[in-house]
Amino acid sequence: MLGSWGQYSSVRGACGLLVAAALLVSSVPTMAAGVSEVPAAAASASVTVAAALPASVRTTANLNLRTGPSTGYRILATIPKGTTVKVLSRASNGWYKVSYAGRTGWVSNHYVTAVASSSPGALPASVRTTANLNLRTGPSTGYRILATIPKGTTVKVFDRASNGWYKVSYAGRTGWVSNAYVTTGSGTSTPTAPSTPRSTGPNRTSRVVLTFDDCPRTLSAFTAAIDYAASHNMGLVIAPTGNCLSSFKARYGVDLAARARAKGQWVINHSVSHPDLRPLSCSAAAAQLGGTGVHTNFGRPPYGAVDASVVCAYDRVGMAIWTWSRDTLDWSTKSKATTVARASAARAGDTVLMHMQWQGFAPDSLRQIKANLAGRGLGVCRAYRGADGAGAVLRTPVLLPSSLPC
Ligand SMILES: [Zn+2]
Repeated sequence: MLGSWGQYSSVRGACGLLVAAALLVSSVPTMAAGVSEVPAAAASASVTVAAALPASVRTTANLNLRTGPSTGYRILATIPKGTTVKVLSRASNGWYKVSYAGRTGWVSNHYVTAVASSSPGALPASVRTTANLNLRTGPSTGYRILATIPKGTTVKVFDRASNGWYKVSYAGRTGWVSNAYVTTGSGTSTPTAPSTPRSTGPNRTSRVVLTFDDCPRTLSAFTAAIDYAASHNMGLVIAPTGNCLSSFKARYGVDLAARARAKGQWVINHSVSHPDLRPLSCSAAAAQLGGTGVHTNFGRPPYGAVDASVVCAYDRVGMAIWTWSRDTLDWSTKSKATTVARASAARAGDTVLMHMQWQGFAPDSLRQIKANLAGRGLGVCRAYRGADGAGAVLRTPVLLPSSLPC
């Protein structure tokens, strides 16, 4: 994970500066002369927060134990530097819930270092790929692909990142691979799937996925589109904001996400309030992804806007980014005919972007798009009927399968 530090240092550094003065007790000498930079220990700790929950952490400074996971909460005690404390959980902003001296409270992740992982295991000498697997320049899907390692290849292991990814060598190159798609010599195997392209997400079929973001204009419009999709064997992907869900819940007592899932449709995250996540720190962006809204394993960043800090946030909340491969610009044209035409021009496997508040999200538009695609020999992702695709339409799982049964 150290390799990612340089990429994020400006964002994290700024964040660290803000918390440092308020966080550390006044007796810490490094703070007294003025905060000029984040301590090195804090820097290395802060890049490990996306990892598996450590069993315990060791404080790298005199550190306040607080009643909640931010400096806004009351101080319960000050934990001396170098103390190892047991970790109970982790907040979405990275703070750890720990126990110390008979008390339970929260500490900043910036001033601790992980002592032991909850599932450590010795570093294997080599691993075997269980799928065609991307070798990347760093330990997450946010990094550039160097090569694709064929399924069944054994590669030598050099290191493991705090998130579990392995540093390996393959075909003369050194890079990182996900630990989810390799098996160690012991034969331990984890569920497999090829890594997910951002633009088409978990759809690995030739069927076209129609996706609708943001928020419907009315409950009746939403219900009409969802019901039409279900009864005409279409599996849409909807990406409502958290504020949208809250609003419909407050006005009608209806959970749009649950209603869509009940009709065999897929639901992904679209942040709480739809900001451009790029200017936000990793923590602030993660709060947008982990706050009110859809909690699942795929999310669409507002405006499709992604940078290193945004990737950091998605990694932190354990969500994969799913953008799109075809944009109808429905919000711009506001034209039903143009929106239908652009969606109907999709190619095999495309993820088509539309919005619930515009012209594509209506029974007649869905009907036309499906018919037009069929005329070009293309199918639309089908309503969920379980893994075998047979029988009645079923409620979709909250977590999307790594390969969508389109
Ligand atoms: Zn949006």
